[in-house]
Amino acid sequence: MDLKNFINNNEHIPLSGLWLDNYEPSSGLVYGQIPNSNEDDIEKAYQAANAAFKGWSTTSIDERSRIMLRIADLIEENLEELAAAESRDNGKPLWLARAVDIPRASSNFRFYGNAITQYSSDAHESVGKNTMNFTMRKPIGVVGCISPWNLPLYLFSWKIAPAIAAGNCVVAKPSEVTPATAFLLGDIVKKAGLPAGVLNIVHGLGGSCGQAIVSHPGIKAISFTGGTTTGEHIARTAAPMFKKLSLELGGKNPNIIFADCDYDKMLTTTLRSSFANQGQICLCGSRIFVEQSIYDKFKTDFVARVQQLKVGHPDAADSKLGAVVSAAHRDKILDYIAFAKANPEEYSILTGGNSLLIEGHEGGYYLEPTVIEVQSNDCKLNQEEIFGPVVTIMPFKDEAHALELANGTRYGLSATLWTSDLSRTMRLSNEIEAGIVWVNTWLNRDLRTPFGGVKDSGVGREGGFEALNFFTEPKNICIEY
Ligand code: NAD
Repeated sequence: MDLKNFINNNEHIPLSGLWLDNYEPSSGLVYGQIPNSNEDDIEKAYQAANAAFKGWSTTSIDERSRIMLRIADLIEENLEELAAAESRDNGKPLWLARAVDIPRASSNFRFYGNAITQYSSDAHESVGKNTMNFTMRKPIGVVGCISPWNLPLYLFSWKIAPAIAAGNCVVAKPSEVTPATAFLLGDIVKKAGLPAGVLNIVHGLGGSCGQAIVSHPGIKAISFTGGTTTGEHIARTAAPMFKKLSLELGGKNPNIIFADCDYDKMLTTTLRSSFANQGQICLCGSRIFVEQSIYDKFKTDFVARVQQLKVGHPDAADSKLGAVVSAAHRDKILDYIAFAKANPEEYSILTGGNSLLIEGHEGGYYLEPTVIEVQSNDCKLNQEEIFGPVVTIMPFKDEAHALELANGTRYGLSATLWTSDLSRTMRLSNEIEAGIVWVNTWLNRDLRTPFGGVKDSGVGREGGFEALNFFTEPKNICIEY
């Protein structure tokens, strides 16, 4: 499938004249071309967005909501096509794209289509006589949305939906590694009746096309999800231009397991929180800490369960893991594993540790799910985000030790806690440095709740009214009459 940019509700070949190959992770083969857009393409998208802003920002809330709900419906109606495209582009199992990615993209539009009807500013009598004081929430104008490859349409729409619900016009760039469903979204929003120019989707590399969005003087806010290093770079560019920034960045999330937990539920969920989407979810619990008294049992049981996980072609219904997203990403993960192998005094590979050849798909980027025992939290594999099917495990002595380990990284996105002790739950939930703490569950998301991290995991929150706050500016008006 060859993709085009989507500007002003029309498909456009890139003004740059440049194209990139799009690879299928399950086979390693090129299966299409995508625009390698440059600043001229971003300028064209910006002009379309800017021209549409006046009309869209003054469109009634009811009408905006109606169009967004129609987009949600159309995503649902096209679930099979979108899921197949997502799985092919990303390497994730088809069942996962069908069950999670695409339904969530639809939910994002449905949620913000409804939320905007409930989002209102306040008005009240003010200090002094005969004054009325009220605060409006004004859309910002043209905003930039930049998303990663791990949950392509899910995260792309998680930004676009609140941005347009709030009355902004958007220049959006999906990851160049997984552009397919963003391209298909263009046709859907057009069919749903979204006016031309409200959403413009431009494809290309981060360093050129993404950078052109961030540095465009007319694009006043940037909502970014991706790696921490990229986030630093974006912040450096955007800060002197006084742009509003939302940065959802990397994680190295602890999964803390106490002996008093519901063991079977914990084991099953830990398998999922370690390896769902090939471990390529920012919320995966990549550092597993287990109370000493059950450490040996957990180690044996967990490794046995991991060895039963089937890695296979994304189309196979029994593939628990598909392919990782790209050859470069596979190699990065393998480099971490090679580092562990080269330092046996620090690391023991308990299972996995190799790439896999799947019959008939030998060029695909398949990796064994890998469990590595570490001696200390202060090691490379516990401090750096691997973002693949690799978890580390180590024991802890007591609650204080668990907390020290959990907080012992630069990241603070999410944490998972397994215990039946209510007081401990309260203490640790309060003390863990993370934007999200799950207790006896994982990836249990309610779209009304704030989403985001602390420390180097990001700045700002998405979700619920937080995202509508981000995509609007408060304007206070005080009238004496
Ligand atoms: P990435 O930072 O390489 O790329 C993300 C997006 O930014 C892509 O669209 C890319 O083209 C673009 N980009 C790259 N350089 C840019 C630049 N200089 N200016 C503007 N845009 C640029 O991340 P990735 O490899 O696509 O995704 C994996 C990372 O995303 C992991 O670190 C993961 O933890 C993180 N992530 C975070 C969350 C969260 O909510 N916190 C969710 C998913 C993924």
